[in-house]
Amino acid sequence: MTLRTILTLPEQVLRRKARPVDCFDMDLQTLIDDMIETMRAAPGVGLAAPQVGISDRVIVVEYAEPPEVPEGEEAPEVKPKLYVMINPEIVKASKETETGVEGCLSIPGLVGEVERFSTVQVKGLNRRGQPMKVKAEGWLARIFQHEIDHLNGVLYPDRATKVWKPEPEEEEDMV
Ligand code: ZN
Repeated sequence: MTLRTILTLPEQVLRRKARPVDCFDMDLQTLIDDMIETMRAAPGVGLAAPQVGISDRVIVVEYAEPPEVPEGEEAPEVKPKLYVMINPEIVKASKETETGVEGCLSIPGLVGEVERFSTVQVKGLNRRGQPMKVKAEGWLARIFQHEIDHLNGVLYPDRATKVWKPEPEEEEDMV
């Protein structure tokens, strides 16, 4: 596996609509493995292929849903779940939305407040080309929406109600 360079604005590939994938060959497997390694090294909780300069509809997401614990109690360590999705598509979204703060590995030094659907159902293919579906809520739903936006050349500031330079102690998951 190889670490790939994460491209940042104003790289034009970040603004392009990515191509659907129809060939599940070795090049795709290598791209996926490299993307997982690059996301983990960043570190980030999601990465889309255009962020490493490949205009293909491929995303990786790795996120540990924090368990609900009573206030004051320490949450147990949760193993993050890895999703690899090809040609992902939101097929269902909740009426409810949530506003949250997100950052992007391709836009260093900024965060923004973005309204997203609270829950989404995402349909796509796994790395072998077999159909898969994910039901996501909360942060996981936000990550999927952020990554799918990348495949359409959309970046979070396009949707943000406000964008700012975070304080050093203001830490966000990067996607
Ligand atoms: Zn991003």
